[in-house]
Amino acid sequence: MGTNRIYLDWNATAPLLSQARAAVLDGLDLQGNASSVHREGRAARGLIEAARRDVAALVGVDPAHVIFTSGATEAANHILTPDFRMGRSPVRLGALYVSAIEHPAVHEGGRFAARHEIPVGGDGIVRLDALDEMLAAHDPASGLPMVAIMLANSETGILQPVADAAKIVHAHGGILVVDAVQAVGRIPVSLEALGADFLIISSHKIGGPKGVGALVSRGETLMPAPLVRGGGHEKGHRSGTESIAGIMGFGAAAAFAVRDLAERNRMIAALRDRLEAGMRQAAGDVVILGEAGPRVPNTTCFVLPGLKAETGQIAFDLEGIALSAGSACSSGKVGESHVLKAMGLDARLGALRISIGAATTEAEIDAAIAVFAKIAGRRRLSDAAA
Ligand code: PLP
Repeated sequence: MGTNRIYLDWNATAPLLSQARAAVLDGLDLQGNASSVHREGRAARGLIEAARRDVAALVGVDPAHVIFTSGATEAANHILTPDFRMGRSPVRLGALYVSAIEHPAVHEGGRFAARHEIPVGGDGIVRLDALDEMLAAHDPASGLPMVAIMLANSETGILQPVADAAKIVHAHGGILVVDAVQAVGRIPVSLEALGADFLIISSHKIGGPKGVGALVSRGETLMPAPLVRGGGHEKGHRSGTESIAGIMGFGAAAAFAVRDLAERNRMIAALRDRLEAGMRQAAGDVVILGEAGPRVPNTTCFVLPGLKAETGQIAFDLEGIALSAGSACSSGKVGESHVLKAMGLDARLGALRISIGAATTEAEIDAAIAVFAKIAGRRRLSDAAA
């Protein structure tokens, strides 16, 4: 990153941690293939299993229940399938229900031909009454229902009532998949406490390298048919020679994420509160989404009336600050946010997202507030001129 740049887009990707970088470099220097039985192979295997333990600890599961993938998108495509196995016997799932605010990796529905959308309220929280009604209308003869609800929304940071959803899903005999990508490393996450059957997580949102993630399961009895078939790596669930460097970097980031989480979160939440108070002082009409409800501590999603998010993002960028216009997708073009639409907001205007992390400083927050005040002031001037 260039000098004088301020990076406030941690939900898009978090800066690589020095520990993760060191682990990646160690992994790159390893000679062995983890499937080989010679000493080099066994050394590589040992390091992958050590990383698996660190990733398992991040979400409180048995390491045997962590399948490494190329990222959360692959993990989502792996798990969202009607094609399951119980041992060797095939099991068909009947339908997929996804919340209206899922990340596209889940929202697209994976290998299901169609999916039903569970609505969210104006507060950005999935409507559990609607979930209950939809599952009550599900035809069990078609197969078990699968439900996907994320834990923390990537655009707003709003936390979803996943544990309550799990009770409803299980009462209807369904399977619950939770995208915990934006929650791990930001709040404590336990598959057991959430009542989830599967979690998907990603390395690069917690300071690990990009291109590695995991599908985490509660047990090993009912498992999805593999997405990537071949030599039978990852106990047959995900073939392909493991990216040792990526996995070791992920393990190092996971170990960091659980260490001193509460203390780190207190500091991050204090910075977030400072930011929001400063923004409010500069522009009393700023709308902070999800402010009243539960959110991850690192995310502020806001609408400045009269300012198009895209224009705001460019203005911040020109002032040296990287943040996101919520709905920026991988191709770099900005579309209307399906999350804002689902919340009943004016998606044409869009929203800006500031997301921070452990390395963010008070000085950076104050600089962001100053730029915000400048942009908000300009908006008033152009309003007056109009
Ligand atoms: N789910 C959420 C909530 C995300 O924010 C992201 C990343 O943008 C993904 C899934 C996809 O993760 P990955 O980049 O590892 O494929």
